Amino acid sequence: MDNCIFCKIAAKQIPAQIIYEDDDVLAFNDINPAAPIHFLIIPKKHLATLADCNESDAALLGKISLLAPKLAKELGCGYSVDANGAPQGGFKTLFNTGPDGGQEVYHLHMHVIGGPRPWQRSLA
Ligand code: 5GP
Ligand code: ZN
Repeated sequence: MDNCIFCKIAAKQIPAQIIYEDDDVLAFNDINPAAPIHFLIIPKKHLATLADCNESDAALLGKISLLAPKLAKELGCGYSVDANGAPQGGFKTLFNTGPDGGQEVYHLHMHVIGGPRPWQRSLA
């Protein structure tokens, strides 16, 4: 899609710190991180928002959701349960949708945010 910054990142027309790539999705570091670890997972195909997805996108959304904990673990903010059964680590996942949802880039993306607190800024 013309003039979509994330389509341009997916097409390698503008640079990004890419963490993961396959035929369907791309993950890269957020240019203005809200926390020590902050990356975005996008579909390579242009979908403007979560509200523009339909049943045919279910597998793609599932892939993005399953990728989040794997990449979070690789980058050092994985979730686990210790030997005593206490939860450890973890991360926040977020899809902003529309102006009232705080969406600024209209190419679907999941934020994955983690690392030691306090974080640099709120994502509210
Ligand atoms: P939104 O507010 O749409 O949910 O989030 C958009 C995110 O994209 C923001 O956190 C912003 O920092 C990030 N972003 C915007 N432009 C670029 C860019 O050119 N490169 C990268 N890596 N991140 C971007
Ligand atoms: Zn796009």
